Amino acid sequence: MTARWYVLCVRVPDALDDEIAAVLGSGSLGVEVAAFRPGMTELRVYLGPEHDASVWRERAAEVLSAHGLPVAALALAIDPVADGRWVERWQATLAPIPLGSRFVVLATETASGFGGREPIRLIPGMAFGTGEHETTRLCATAVEQQVAPGSRWLDLGTGTGLLAIVAARCGASRVLAVDTDPEAVAVASEVLAANAAGDAVEVRVGSIADRRGETFDGVVANIQSSFLIANADGLAAALVNGGVLIASGFLVDDIEEIAAALSAASFRVEARASEGPWACLLARRGER
Ligand code: SAH
Repeated sequence: MTARWYVLCVRVPDALDDEIAAVLGSGSLGVEVAAFRPGMTELRVYLGPEHDASVWRERAAEVLSAHGLPVAALALAIDPVADGRWVERWQATLAPIPLGSRFVVLATETASGFGGREPIRLIPGMAFGTGEHETTRLCATAVEQQVAPGSRWLDLGTGTGLLAIVAARCGASRVLAVDTDPEAVAVASEVLAANAAGDAVEVRVGSIADRRGETFDGVVANIQSSFLIANADGLAAALVNGGVLIASGFLVDDIEEIAAALSAASFRVEARASEGPWACLLARRGER
């Protein structure tokens, strides 16, 4: 029988697990992060029938080399996963994840009532972006604090759509959610429908350049630092005067570089937050 599902196992030092999981996980069905031995983490990257396993093996080797890790010394194996229902099983084990002060992400059809938090439901079987990541939580907290009733928001790199849902539930009257990955857009559309957030939120494939001239009171961008630096002007242009940018997806070490790029594009950095190695900036657009 030809295996239709694969798991690519890569063992990396703990300090790099988030970063490498983010890079390797992009486009996969999902990544499981498991302790391997003290100091080392095993990343299990799940692949489906649509993925070419040998291409992914090469890609993993490149990512390891790029991080100065000895490819040969690491367990890099592709094993067939006999039963394609692993995604559902894995997600069923996910504990409810608190998001901001008001929400809880549920990966299953569990009953509601988690400490009075409002549930946001993911779709069983859907693989990526469960709200576990520090940057998602940092952004969700900031979005909750910043969304004014009736305000208009752009969720740049929406992934599963979680942050767009938070913005809509907090009173935004319009949220444009874009992602360059069509699969993410398909997933976000499903998640939005499952959470009855469809009216306020429009999701489509695209990026900062695809806002069709629309401007927003707030932008949340949980995207890699290179994007934020290269697009600081574009982010300012997407905001009204005094509009707020919530930016994450980068490490504490990169805060100063990003803050400088934003300041050069008229932003005033108002707050910095971090969780573990991950950082989040809140910046307000000034007059230009
Ligand atoms: N907003 C979600 C997902 C963040 S992951 C959360 O906070 O959990 C980052 C997402 O940005 C991915 O879905 C990726 O496909 C998307 N992305 C990466 N580069 C992008 C770009 N240049 N423009 C728009 N989306 C991008």
